[in-house]
Amino acid sequence: MKALRLASYAKVNLGLEVLGLRADGYHELRTLFQTIDLHDDIVLRPRRSGIVVRCDHPSVPRDGTNLAARAAEALARHGGVTQGVEIVITKRIPVAGGLGGGSSNAATTLLGLDRLWGLGLGPAGLQPLARRLGADVPFFLVGGTALGLARGDEVYPLRRQVRGHIVVVDAGRPVSTAAVFRRVDESLTPRENSYSIFLFVSRDLEGERAFSILSNDLENAALAEAPALREAIERTRGLLRGAGCSLAALSGSGSSFFGLFEDARRAGRAARALEAAGLRSLGCRTLSLEEYRKRWSRSLGPVAVRVGRTR
Ligand code: ATP
Repeated sequence: MKALRLASYAKVNLGLEVLGLRADGYHELRTLFQTIDLHDDIVLRPRRSGIVVRCDHPSVPRDGTNLAARAAEALARHGGVTQGVEIVITKRIPVAGGLGGGSSNAATTLLGLDRLWGLGLGPAGLQPLARRLGADVPFFLVGGTALGLARGDEVYPLRRQVRGHIVVVDAGRPVSTAAVFRRVDESLTPRENSYSIFLFVSRDLEGERAFSILSNDLENAALAEAPALREAIERTRGLLRGAGCSLAALSGSGSSFFGLFEDARRAGRAARALEAAGLRSLGCRTLSLEEYRKRWSRSLGPVAVRVGRTR
C-alpha cells in the first residue's frame, strides 16, 4: 500500500506583538515566524474510509479533535473525497510549548493529503482551509522567516531569510495558549502605534538585523499563568546571552524558550552551559523559505514512498 512519510516542522516566534482585541474576538497580532528543523514525523496511509489517528504522545488526542484529523476531515469535505486515511504521528516537538506542533501537523496533513488524494490545490489553494483550522496553520504552508499579520494568519515571507542555530529549552511545563491570552486581555490596552516588528523589517531591508528590538508581548502573561517558570526562564536567558546569542525569547505563549546563534560554536557553548545548570535543551537550525520548500518538494515528489505497517 502506498503511503506518504512527511516531516512536520516546528516554528519559533522571533518577535510577537499583541495590538488589541478584534471585533471577532480574536487578537490582532504582529509576529515574526521562523521554521526550524525540529520536527514530528507523520505517515499518511490510505484507508477505504474513515479518519484514524495514531500518536505516541499521551497528551495528544487521538480522536476527531486532533488537529491533523480536523485537517483531513475539512479537506475531505472540501474535495468531496470519500476515501479515508490513517494518520500516524510520532511526536518530537514539545506539546503545548509554543512551537506550533499541532498547527504544523494540520498543515502537513493538508499538503500530504492534497497530494495523496490528487486534489491539486497546492499551498495557495489550501490557505482558506488552513485559516479555519487555526491562526498558526497558514504559516506552515509557507515556512521560512515570515511576517504574520491579522491573527497571525496573513503570512508574508521576508526577503532576507534568517539563518542560524537555535537552542530550544523546553521548560517541560505545558502552558495553555488560551489561558495566556485571557491574562493578556486583563491588562490589554490597544497599542496601534506598536512598531518594533515593522522597524525590524524595514531595517532588515537596509541590511541590518536589529534582533535587539524584538520582544514577545506574551511573556509577562505566560509567566503570570505559570509563575514557576520565571526562575528557569531568567536563568535560561542569562545562559543564552552569556554564550553570545543574537536573540533570546519565549516562543509563542511558551513554555519553550530559545536562543538564536550565528554559529554552531556559540550554540554548542550554550547547550553545554544549560546542561551544566541542569536544563535540557534541543539543538536545531533555522529552515529558510527555500530550504522548507525544497524539503517539501522532495517528500511530495511524484513517487510516494513505500512504508510498512506500524501496527
Ligand atoms: P497553540 O499555540 O496552538 O496552543 P502550541 O504550539 O503551544 O500551540 P501544540 O503542541 O500545538 O501547542 O498543542 C496545543 C494543544 O493542542 C495540546 O493541548 C494538544 O492536546 C492539542 N492537539 C491537538 N492536536 C494536536 C497535534 N496533532 N499535536 C499536538 N497537539 C495537538
